[in-house]
Amino acid sequence: MAIPTARVDGAAAVLSVLDVHKYYSLGETRVHALRGVSLDVERGGFVAVMGASGSGKSTLMNILGCLDRPSSGQYLLDGTDVSQLDKRALAAIRNHRLGFVFQGFNLLARTTALENILLPTLYTKIDAPERARRAAAALSLVGLENRADHFPSQMSGGQQQRVAIARALVNQPAVLLADEPTGNLDSRTSVEIMQVFQELNDGGLTVVMVTHEPDIAQFAKRTIVFRDGRIRTDTPVEDRPRARAMLATMPALDD
Ligand code: ADP
Ligand code: MG
Repeated sequence: MAIPTARVDGAAAVLSVLDVHKYYSLGETRVHALRGVSLDVERGGFVAVMGASGSGKSTLMNILGCLDRPSSGQYLLDGTDVSQLDKRALAAIRNHRLGFVFQGFNLLARTTALENILLPTLYTKIDAPERARRAAAALSLVGLENRADHFPSQMSGGQQQRVAIARALVNQPAVLLADEPTGNLDSRTSVEIMQVFQELNDGGLTVVMVTHEPDIAQFAKRTIVFRDGRIRTDTPVEDRPRARAMLATMPALDD
């Protein structure tokens, strides 16, 4: 599929949002969910998005994830203006350029870890042996080589989230988008997931993660706080903790 590309200045930014507004119509009323948001995320960035409920975090993530379009303003993903693409083109971009991780894991229940990871490859032109190779590589990237044939019900929450991360990575996306990825996990498991994110980010993957937990936001390189549809603060993280080192000091749970 031909996707229009428009290289702009600031080509180092993998995500570039310029003066985006988003309105939702609810009958007669109009909700102004984003009120002029501008944001650049550079390649290899790791951004934590925070803010009170209703402040616009999910609306922004839906736009970054090409699940929704801005009402006005521009969104460039890897230099491509995706603000005005049709649904079909957006779906192609979602599958090829973006990986998604959610609070609830969203794995298929009667499907093994490996099969869950294979799913996004079924919509590509990659041949079957290469698909299998990539799925196995994604599984080992999250340290679950020995769980390939397990069903979600046979895995802990942390393991399920690792499978979800592997699924998000299998098509080698430019960006990983995560909405409250540790929201359903205990504190040690949350740090383990942050270890996975930090190591993927060390390897060059760009990560944007919504969290309401300040402790979790500290594992990112930069935190952005939303308020009333606007970015209120945008701050580099000083002395960010390394999850791997922190885990060494935390009591282990039974696996
Ligand atoms: P957050 O994720 O920070 O809790 P949201 O982005 O979900 O905030 O919501 C921002 C504002 O937009 C809120 O006032 C919310 O009620 C409104 N909103 C979000 N989604 C919709 C929708 N689909 N229809 C109408 N209003 C919505
Ligand atoms: Mg939300």
